[in-house]
Amino acid sequence: MADAEKDPFVSTLLYIPSLLIAAAVTVACVSVGHIMIWRGTRNETSIPLWGAAYGLCTCAMIMVGLRGSIPYFLSIVVSNALLLVAVGLLWLGYRRFIGKTARHDLLLALLGGLVWLGFACDRQFFADINTRTHVVSAIQSVYLFAVAVDLINHKRKEPLPALSLTVAAIAVQQLLLIVRTVHLLITPLDASTATLPSGTPIALTLIGSVGFVVFLGLMQLALVGQRSEKRYRVAAETDGLTGLANRRRFLGEVLSHLNDNPDHGTLVLFDLDYFKRINDTHGHLTGDRALVEFARILAKATPDGAIAARIGGEEFALFLPDGDATKAAALADGIRQLTHAFELGTDSDSLRVTVSVGLADIAEVGSDYEMLHGAADVALYEAKREGRDRVAVYRWEPPQRQTAAPSQLDLGQFASSPV
Ligand code: GH3
Ligand code: MG
Ligand code: MG
Repeated sequence: MADAEKDPFVSTLLYIPSLLIAAAVTVACVSVGHIMIWRGTRNETSIPLWGAAYGLCTCAMIMVGLRGSIPYFLSIVVSNALLLVAVGLLWLGYRRFIGKTARHDLLLALLGGLVWLGFACDRQFFADINTRTHVVSAIQSVYLFAVAVDLINHKRKEPLPALSLTVAAIAVQQLLLIVRTVHLLITPLDASTATLPSGTPIALTLIGSVGFVVFLGLMQLALVGQRSEKRYRVAAETDGLTGLANRRRFLGEVLSHLNDNPDHGTLVLFDLDYFKRINDTHGHLTGDRALVEFARILAKATPDGAIAARIGGEEFALFLPDGDATKAAALADGIRQLTHAFELGTDSDSLRVTVSVGLADIAEVGSDYEMLHGAADVALYEAKREGRDRVAVYRWEPPQRQTAAPSQLDLGQFASSPV
């Protein structure tokens, strides 16, 4: 209290016990927020760990704030142990969030608190508040550094915006810890002080730390929210059976390509042959397996930059942004042959699945998607009519007395040529 009495600003505006009460209430709110959110999203195991960390942090702050009113063992030894376990749990929560689990994770999370208790056993060391502060800061720093390294590495795998903000907040907090350590080295506190230390630097450090904790808590909720939003978005654009893009995503990507680059592109449509018969003869589940196997063949053959999708029941599409009809036809025929060669095991025997393919190129049809799809569809019909298990390419034949480019009505005038 001595410093505070000298400095009226500190003794009123930055009165440490009041700040600690405000900080404890704030951090408790973060803890409750995490627990409430966890009740709705049970699959994210990091949230209860973070919530528990903030709960421990609240208890630690209350114990520090009660220094002089409760035994020093509680106010110094237990409070700092709780604080360091809280930091350890924060670290563990981030490990869970990025999907890293190791056998000794929990022990490592508790290690900071245990190291602190080890130091606390040394009476000489323990008597000096400056040394105690350095030890607590150093242990916190190690955990925060480990979190930052993990998040920076994880960002490449899952680029969530809140990851960078969390790393930035940790960098600021680390800087704050360094400044506080240097300040304590230059102007140490009275080593034997038994009361709560006070003064503007301590008050500012406390305010900074609470700001950091609250910001970290908000970023944790943002991380969880951004991850689930991304998962829902991917799920809404993915075919549940085959894992390929669905019609919606396919159309979105193709239309965006056609908008940016209307001069190149080939659309390839695949339709499995006599699929109804496969369902009727071998059952719907075998039909599903055939769809999955064909999707696997298609995905494997899809070049970089192209997009493959399941656009209907047994209908698939491939959009090739580069190249031409000849190259696309060769690729499509390779997929057709692989499909023909594949044997799908059934209860009694094995069966072969074949696919008919129709393709249309922008150079022939133009870059209007309706026209392109209609043209590829006419070619597919031709491949079916010619006997199935084949590839047909659209060739536009100008009508007798018409030289203009094809319109919607002209689709019937396309001629397909089987490969
Ligand atoms: P074609 O050679 O002329 O293409 O004949 P097809 O039997 O393949 O064509 P049709 O359009 O008559 O039948 C398609 C069948 O695909 C009918 C439908 O029950 C089946 N189907 C659609 N979606 C699924 C699915 O998700 N799983 C399974 N097992 N079958 C599906
Ligand atoms: Mg069909
Ligand atoms: Mg079919």
